[in-house]
Amino acid sequence: MELIAVESLALGKWVAPGNDAAKIASAITGEAIAQIGDGALDFAAMREYAKTKGGPALRAMTYHERAKMLKALGQAIAARKGELYELSYNTGATKADSWIDIDGGIGTLMVFASKGRREMPDGHIYIDGDVEQLSKKGTFLGQHICTPLQGVAVHINAFNFPVWGMLEKLAPTLLAGVPAIVKPASQTAYLTHACVKIMMESGLLPEGAVQLVSGGTGNLLDLLDCQDVVSFTGSASTALKLRSSPHLLEQSVRFVAEQDSLNASLLGPDAKPGTEEFDLFVKEVVRELTAKAGQKCTAIRRILVPQGLEKELIDAVSARLDKTVIGDPRLETTRMGAVVSLAQRADVLEKAALIGQEAQLVYGGQDALTVDGADAVKGSFVKPALYHCADPDGAKLVHETEAFGPVSTVMGYRDLAHGCEILNRGGGSLVASVITMDGDVARQVALNSASWHGRLYINNRVSMGESTGHGSPLPHLVHGGPGRAGGGEEMGGVRGVMHYMQRTSVQGSPDILTAISGQWVTGSEEKTPPAHPFTRSFNELQIGETLWTDSREVTLEDIEHFAEFTGDTFYAHMDEEAAAANPFFPGRVAHGYLLLSFAAGLFVQPDPGPVLANTGLNDLKFMKPVSPGDSIKVRLTVKRKTRRTDEYGEVRWNVTLFNQDEEQVAEYELHTMNAY
Ligand code: NAP
Repeated sequence: MELIAVESLALGKWVAPGNDAAKIASAITGEAIAQIGDGALDFAAMREYAKTKGGPALRAMTYHERAKMLKALGQAIAARKGELYELSYNTGATKADSWIDIDGGIGTLMVFASKGRREMPDGHIYIDGDVEQLSKKGTFLGQHICTPLQGVAVHINAFNFPVWGMLEKLAPTLLAGVPAIVKPASQTAYLTHACVKIMMESGLLPEGAVQLVSGGTGNLLDLLDCQDVVSFTGSASTALKLRSSPHLLEQSVRFVAEQDSLNASLLGPDAKPGTEEFDLFVKEVVRELTAKAGQKCTAIRRILVPQGLEKELIDAVSARLDKTVIGDPRLETTRMGAVVSLAQRADVLEKAALIGQEAQLVYGGQDALTVDGADAVKGSFVKPALYHCADPDGAKLVHETEAFGPVSTVMGYRDLAHGCEILNRGGGSLVASVITMDGDVARQVALNSASWHGRLYINNRVSMGESTGHGSPLPHLVHGGPGRAGGGEEMGGVRGVMHYMQRTSVQGSPDILTAISGQWVTGSEEKTPPAHPFTRSFNELQIGETLWTDSREVTLEDIEHFAEFTGDTFYAHMDEEAAAANPFFPGRVAHGYLLLSFAAGLFVQPDPGPVLANTGLNDLKFMKPVSPGDSIKVRLTVKRKTRRTDEYGEVRWNVTLFNQDEEQVAEYELHTMNAY
C-alpha cells in the first residue's frame, strides 16, 4: 500500500515529507499507512509570510466578511466529508466517534460564522462595553475596543480530534482576523492534512491565512512576540515544557493551554436506583468510557456515588459494558474502536496499573479483551476497565493519573460536602457533571465546586432528551479549566475570539471616540440630514445624522385617556395623593410608555419608505418624571449601521427625550431594519 505523504503547507506551497520522515501506523492493523516529517521548513519565513500576507488580507475584511468565509469553509468541508470519514477509521474511530470530530468541527465553524454575523460589527473594530463617563461635562470619555493581533496564531493540537481540534481554534482565530500556523499531533496528522487540503482547494482563504506544519515545530516558538499567540492542546507535561520557555516568558507571548483533566461525574443523593436519573448516570458514564475509546479530554475519569451505592452502580455499568462490542470500527456492529496507537495502548495500560495501586479492578482489564473483525494484538484495542477506590480521601493516584483511554474509577462519598471535596481533588478540571433533580444539590455543587471546573454539566429527566452530553464542549460555551486543566479558555462564542485580539481602552472627546468606533457617541457632532432620516436609505444614512422634533405638551387628559385606553391605571398616573407619597414622583405623572408612544409620534415620517420595521429597543431608561403640563421633544440620531441581508440592514438610533427645561427625561436605543 502506498503511504500517505503528510505534507506541510508553507508559504503557500505543499512541502513533501523529507528523507527522515517517520512512519505512522493504522490503529486497527498496526501497518504503516502514512509518513510525516517536516524536512526543512523555514519557520522564520513562514511567520513572516503569515504576518505580511495573511494578516493584512484578513484584517482588510470585516468581521461579517470573515464570518461568511467561515460558513463557506464549513460548507466546503461538509461537501467532501466522506473523504475524511474514510481516513478517520485508521485512527481507531468508529463512525460515531468521527461524527464528533468531523461534523463537530464543521458545526463549530458554522456557530462561529453565525455568532460573528449576529454579535460582531460589519466593520473592523469590536466595541467592548459601554462608554465610560470620565468627566463632568462629558467632553472626555473612555471606551474599550478590541482589534486583531498583528502576528500569527500557532495552534498545537492533540491527536484525539484531528479535525475538530483544528477547526475549534481556527474559527475564532480567523474570525478575529489573525492568520494561523497549525501543527497537528503527528499520529493523526494525515486527517488534519486532508482537511487543510479541502480548505485550500476551496479557494476561500486569503493567501497566508493558514499554514500547516506536519512534524516538529523547529525554532518557531522562539520567533514569537507579543503579537503572536500559542494555543496549545495536549498533555500537561508538554504544556509545561512549552509555556516555560524563557523566550515566550520574556516576550509575554500569550499561551492558551488546554491540557489533561481528571473530570468527574457525581450522582446526586436524590438519584436513587430505580429513578430515571440513576439510569441516565449509568448511560453517561458508559458513553464517556467508550466514545473515542475513552480518548476525550473531557471523559469521566472519576465516578462519584453516595456511599453504599457503589456495588449497584458497578453492576449496572458492567452490564452495559458487556454489550459494548469492541472491534474494527468499519463494522456496523462495533460500538468501540481502538485507541490511536500501540504506544498509546501501552501508556493507557501503564497508567491503569498505577490506578490499580489504589483501587480494585471491578470490570474489564486487558485479559478479558475480545475483538471483532481485527487482530487484537496488532491493532491497539483496549478493554474498558472500571476500578473501585474504597478510600478516596487517602488515595492520590486516582485523582492525578489520567489514563487516556477507557478507564475510570468509582468512589463513594459520605455527604454532598464530601462529594464536592472529591470532585475538586482533580486539581482543576475541564468539566464536572451532576445528575440530580434537586436544585439545592445543584446549587451546593455550584457553590463548592464551580471554581474548580471550566464547565458544570447538570442533567436530569427534564433535560436528558435534549442534553448534549457530559463530554461535549460546545462552541457557544467556554471550554477549558483551571489548574491541572491548563488554566486556559477556548470557544465560548465571541469570548473565544478575544484570545486573538487586544483589548485597548481609548480615551478622548466624543467626536474622537465616534471616529474610532464607528458608533455615534453622545456629545459628538450632530449632522443635519438633507431630508427626514426615515426617507433616507440605509446607504444614504450617515452616522451622527440627527433629527430634532417639535415639542408636544403632555396633558392630564392625555394621561387619563392613555390609562383608560390601555388599562394601565397604576396609582402613579391616576391618584395624586398616592403618587405624591411615593419618593419618586411629585404627584401624578405620565406613563413611561405614553412618552415612548408620543416620541414615536414626534419623530416618525409616516409614508412608505426605506424603514421596513421596528425590531426592538435596548437600554430604555426613564430619567425624570413628566408631569401634566410638561412638554417633551425628541432627538433622533443614527448611532450604528450593520448590514444584515442582501436587501436590508439594521440601523440603531439613539433616541433621547427632553423636557421644556432641556433636561433628559428618557433615553433608549431604537432598532429598525432599513432597505439599502
Ligand atoms: P502531547 O503529547 O502533549 O502532544 C500535544 C501536541 O504537542 C502534539 O501536537 C505534539 O506533537 C506537540 N508537541 C509535543 N512536544 C512538542 C514540542 N517540544 N514542541 C512543539 N510541539 C510539541 O499530547 P497528545 O498525546 O497529542 O494528546 C493527549 C493529551 O491531550 C491528553 O492528555 C488529553 O487529556 C489532552 N487533551 C486535552 C484537550 C483539552 O481540550 N483540554 C483536548 C484533547 C486532548 P507531536 O505529536 O508531533 O509530538
